[in-house]
Amino acid sequence: MYHDQSWLEWPFLAPHHRALARDLEGWCAAHLPKAHPQDTDSACKELVRKLGAAGWLRYAVGGLAWGGASDAIDTRAICLLRETLARHSGLADFAFAMQGLGSGAITLHGTPAQKKQYLTRVAAGEAIAAFALSEPNSGSDVAAMQCAARAEGDDYILDGEKTWISNGGIADFYVVFARTGEAHGSRGLSAFIVDAATPGLEIAERIPVIAPHPLARLRFTGCRVPAAQRLGEPGLGFRIAMQTLDIFRTSVAAAALGFARRALAEALVRATTRRMFDQLLSDFQITQVKLANMATGIDSAALLTYRAAWLRDQGHKVTREAAMAKMQATETAQQVIDAAVQVWGGLGVVSGHPVERLYREIRALRIYEGATEVQQLIIARQTLDAFRGEAGR
Ligand SMILES: Cc1cc2nc3c(=O)[nH]c(=O)nc-3n(C[C@H](O)[C@H](O)[C@H](O)COP(=O)(O)OP(=O)(O)OC[C@H]3O[C@@H](n4cnc5c(N)ncnc54)[C@H](O)[C@@H]3O)c2cc1C
Repeated sequence: MYHDQSWLEWPFLAPHHRALARDLEGWCAAHLPKAHPQDTDSACKELVRKLGAAGWLRYAVGGLAWGGASDAIDTRAICLLRETLARHSGLADFAFAMQGLGSGAITLHGTPAQKKQYLTRVAAGEAIAAFALSEPNSGSDVAAMQCAARAEGDDYILDGEKTWISNGGIADFYVVFARTGEAHGSRGLSAFIVDAATPGLEIAERIPVIAPHPLARLRFTGCRVPAAQRLGEPGLGFRIAMQTLDIFRTSVAAAALGFARRALAEALVRATTRRMFDQLLSDFQITQVKLANMATGIDSAALLTYRAAWLRDQGHKVTREAAMAKMQATETAQQVIDAAVQVWGGLGVVSGHPVERLYREIRALRIYEGATEVQQLIIARQTLDAFRGEAGR
């Protein structure tokens, strides 16, 4: 399969990133199945176990003392991992990504005891993590959250619902955001680690989606959680969620990039072998325009993605850059994959064909971790703020 690696020489990456990308490429080719079983619960559990045993999940957590590959989260490594895994298997990328997203708040704000208990097992693939922010009436509008956590003695009592929770049903623990009421809106939220077996937490519904992976609605009914399970200070939940998303939004862009690269590779195979009208499909200039747009879209998304990752690794705030990367990479990947389906003709819509699979897999990336419209608002707000700040308005 065609795999352009010239971008690995870009200045955003350090030598250890290049080595990581090459090692992972070999591992994926040798160890990832071409197709996963229908039962995505067991497929995901097996992928987490495999990724943990091979050491790749060490990159999903921060802190050498807790099993991480480095002390600070290496955003570029996470992006390389997601891009490469996504190119080979959407489900493997999902399994890796959720270990990171589900434990990111613990890496950023956990106490040493919390890190020891959770991060070490996440990094080893021995515990499955999940991130529970969204609710039926609070998706894009996070501040509208209703799930409540009421302090009672040394505990909090959680009541409410969370929905669209990836790994819901197979996770060992959930990082749950709930309203603790220190202030109105986004300033009155806190984050908690809730073990899956905690009484009062139930899986209310499993949700089937077009690119199947474990997904559920959770219900909390008088769910008692010790205050020692709270992450960070009360009232800082929104900030904790956004800091976690600042890392993983950029990695959603990387996953989209992996899907798009795979789609281009598949399109090239077909265009250069399919004969029609006495020539190859790739001989037509109309096809060449498609291929040129696909290749250029991929490079522009890659530049934005690794710029955001590099800036974050240098200690910069990347709200704007991560939003640009996520928007551009996911929207571009959708177009690239659609073009690949077109190149494959009828075969492109046959169930299980790689481009058909990519067509289903890319869709949700334009919605979760902030829909494209939310990214547009973030970018516009940051741009207006910069303009007003400079002009002293
Ligand atoms: C496959 C999948 C996995 C997910 N995994 C998780 C998870 O693990 N944990 C978790 O907490 N959540 C998860 N989510 C939830 C996801 O983050 C939400 O779906 C997302 O935030 C959008 O919320 P919503 O679905 O309620 O849509 P809504 O908030 O109702 O938005 C609907 C649409 O409105 C548009 N829109 C939004 N804001 C604006 C605006 N300001 N102006 C104009 N248009 C706008 C967008 O097009 C958006 O798609 C997942 C979702 C999916 C689909």
